[in-house]
Amino acid sequence: MGQITLEKVTKSFGDVEVIPPLDLTIEDGEFCVFVGPSGCGKSTLLRLIAGLEDISSGAIKIDGSDASDVPPAKRGLAMVFQSYALYPHMSVRKNIAFPMKMAGVSQDEQNRRIESAAKALNLTDYLERRPGQLSGGQRQRVAIGRAIVREPAAFLFDEPLSNLDAALRVGMRLEISELHERLKTTMIYVTHDQVEAMTMADKIVVLRAGNIEQVGSPLDLYKHPRNLFVAGFIGSPK
Ligand code: ADP
Ligand code: MG
Repeated sequence: MGQITLEKVTKSFGDVEVIPPLDLTIEDGEFCVFVGPSGCGKSTLLRLIAGLEDISSGAIKIDGSDASDVPPAKRGLAMVFQSYALYPHMSVRKNIAFPMKMAGVSQDEQNRRIESAAKALNLTDYLERRPGQLSGGQRQRVAIGRAIVREPAAFLFDEPLSNLDAALRVGMRLEISELHERLKTTMIYVTHDQVEAMTMADKIVVLRAGNIEQVGSPLDLYKHPRNLFVAGFIGSPK
């Protein structure tokens, strides 16, 4: 559960082709990072996988079956937005419960998953607070908690740490990596931060203008960057 395959996927907005034909497989359990400069198509690609945007052509497969026309809520994926996407008027508990409520999960099962997520994310003492009464890092954990309780086949993160300060980012990076270790669920993580890519990824996908410049492990890309763009981006001495 959790293999995602893109087959000749394209995306155009009007006449502008933002994603030219793109092939990519993310293996079950992999931590895959999409990295590249602002505007290169990282968010678009993630939104296509999530189903929040329709592909223009090609196919997206989840565990081998065509999901191209499956609505977002039925794809079994959970998107983690930046922490400000929380509902300010709801408690942490209600924020985390919200997607389960929508999905019709029983109250007992909701409580079980909330306790378990809160424990994993050190939020047990904060469940009755509102987002405004939490630190930035705690808010980001709530956003992750809201994804965990859906027990998704894959997590999709779009620059989740970009509005946290530098010190907090380092801590949250570690927490997300530990979460991946523990859950062993596929994670696709979008960032424009080379350090995040190099320290978190099993596999890095380097994007430029919607094209994949190179795919490989952090060590592969560091040792054998295919071109100067990749070398420059990854910071290898080429
Ligand atoms: P990134 O996340 O890497 O910064 P995006 O995926 O947001 O890049 O954007 C890729 C390109 O697609 C940009 O040129 C952007 O202007 C364009 N784009 C994204 N969303 C839309 C949209 N809804 N309508 C038109 N153009 C869009
Ligand atoms: Mg983006």
